Amino acid sequence: MGLRIDNNRCLRCGMCTGIEPDVFEFNDAGDIEIKEDKITEENKKLVEEAKNTCPVKAIEEVEEEKVDTE
Ligand code: SF4
Repeated sequence: MGLRIDNNRCLRCGMCTGIEPDVFEFNDAGDIEIKEDKITEENKKLVEEAKNTCPVKAIEEVEEEKVDTE
């Protein structure tokens, strides 16, 4: 799964970090960072829940090959 946060939309409300703090974290700049390496079979339902709960749909799923690596 490839996930990214649309920082222009994110309200920094902390709902995603509350649902799965292992994967969604505030960084020093106050933006949400996704720890994709922490997504496991066990917590992927919570990750999905966080994605669906985000009030502004700022958590987006992206195709792995479309992840911007430049
Ligand atoms: S739930 Fe959505 S709006 Fe709230 S902090 Fe997470 S990504 Fe941002």
